[in-house]
Amino acid sequence: MGCLEGVRERCPAGAADKAAFQTGEHDWAEGVRQALAELAAEGVHLSEQGEVVCGAAPPVPWAWEDGSAPVEKAQRLLTRALEAKRREELLDRSRTREDRARLRSAAGTGAGAWLQAAPSSAEETLEDADFCAAARLRLGQNVCPPGLRCSNQNSRLRPGATCAKPLDQGGVHALTCKAGGAIMRRHHALVRLLARLLQAAGYHVSEEVWEPRWDRPKLDRRGNQKFDAEGNPQWVRARLDLRLMAPPEEPLVYGDVVVSHPGAPSHARAAAETDGATARKAALKKVGRYPPEEVPNARLVPLAVETGGRWDPDALDFLKKAAGRAAQRHQGLSSLEGGGATAVFATWLRQLACTLQRANVAALRGAAAAGARTEASALRAAGERGSEAAEEEEEEEKDENDWLLEQIEELLAGAKAAAGA
Ligand SMILES: [Zn+2]
Repeated sequence: MGCLEGVRERCPAGAADKAAFQTGEHDWAEGVRQALAELAAEGVHLSEQGEVVCGAAPPVPWAWEDGSAPVEKAQRLLTRALEAKRREELLDRSRTREDRARLRSAAGTGAGAWLQAAPSSAEETLEDADFCAAARLRLGQNVCPPGLRCSNQNSRLRPGATCAKPLDQGGVHALTCKAGGAIMRRHHALVRLLARLLQAAGYHVSEEVWEPRWDRPKLDRRGNQKFDAEGNPQWVRARLDLRLMAPPEEPLVYGDVVVSHPGAPSHARAAAETDGATARKAALKKVGRYPPEEVPNARLVPLAVETGGRWDPDALDFLKKAAGRAAQRHQGLSSLEGGGATAVFATWLRQLACTLQRANVAALRGAAAAGARTEASALRAAGERGSEAAEEEEEEEKDENDWLLEQIEELLAGAKAAAGA
């Protein structure tokens, strides 16, 4: 529709005029009519001027008038309207708050970028089992075996102690459990990757930096500053994940990464209602903790992302601009103008999404690992065997006890059977 007039100019008279579209017998005309009818049945229409209208049909619909102004990006806009409508329907159909929170968290710029990654670099490579587990998470299928307790080590309790909280099958506990270090590793993996990416954008990057101007007095219950045994005042140190310097435009930026799970009980209500509520809340908390007026020459960028992959808009804005800087620094890319920045940004989003999902799956596996192991060692203890045979079997059991892998096999077998039926 963007080049309809051009087509009409180049075609013999009448070949692509209004009548050809509306009553012509060509396959393409039939195809166009059918597509518009299907869209109309879904409540997506084109107005007389070619604007996408959702809901009731416009009083005067699009009619392929001769001499009508070109309509740009009609296909993209129609597809978007249809997808938005289907998404709303899916949200309406979702029975639980957690389901709606998951659907919202799995959408937004870059959230599903790991699905488009080709394994061309280590960052963009997901092992088969990790990919399947991440897909299960995205689809809201069970990701933890039934009846297990969390096997994350909780050394704060006592050395060797495990967290032992019940593991829900949806993975909420596994994705939020602070014992065992998986949550910390997920955070660090993103920080490390961001440090590398932002270096490519020309920033001088330091990780784990202390900004004393944002230190806070450590308070007791009555709100008075605490003192140590020697009578020194105690402070909560302001440690930020990234310090980024690119003078003159960006003299000093602090980046602080935060990953939060919208399915957690404390977030699910708001997350079910609003796209990105969990990341927003985390970002605002960072801004509250590091008020700009206390460090006037710097700015803080909260790099907040949800486990489903949705980024907070502030983080996206910052990353997009930084990707533009990275593109400009690269000869081949800067010649592409806007295209170069878009390509870099898309790559960054894929790498970040893969890293996040890999770390999510690692958290699932870690929390459920010992549960499976315990069963295996119980089985081993029941039979008496030579040590070599036992070792061999342990290897086998390790595979057999990969619950996610089993579930995936079952799923694939089910799909195959359904396809054959
Ligand atoms: Zn736990």
